[in-house]
Amino acid sequence: MSLRDDDLTRLSRCVELAREALDNGDEPFGSILVDADGRTLFEDRNRVKDGDHTRHPEFAIARWAVDNLSPAERAHTTVYTSGEHCPMCAAAHAWVGLGRIVYATSSAQLSGWLQEWDAPPPVAPLPITTVAPRVTVEGPAAEFAETMKALYEAKFRL
Ligand SMILES: [Zn+2]
Repeated sequence: MSLRDDDLTRLSRCVELAREALDNGDEPFGSILVDADGRTLFEDRNRVKDGDHTRHPEFAIARWAVDNLSPAERAHTTVYTSGEHCPMCAAAHAWVGLGRIVYATSSAQLSGWLQEWDAPPPVAPLPITTVAPRVTVEGPAAEFAETMKALYEAKFRL
């Protein structure tokens, strides 16, 4: 696992978006889509507070990419995200042919913390590579574990 400085900078932006989501009553997850030249094309955060619990940023990215990028362009993108994709988003990512994924915290980490707080998730915390075996995945980044745990705790600890 060797994340570069620019990977860490982009993950920091995802963590900022996660904090923004939490501050707005949503769940603390944020993601960005970066093209082959390193330009950020699109960013979003979790937006589930109005009742649609499929409004994850990684899913929004998959839909945005279909509307705005060719299949070849999609294949050369990187999706950065504060938390590893859930199975729904991992499937969407693979179905639309997006590229590498870099995440700050893993589903295994989140799952462990949720167990600690007696707050089990409704969907199995499968790794991306179980759902989408051909996607290149990097993470977690230890630098963000403490910050993300605090954001998750603020939302999910009952
Ligand atoms: Zn998801």
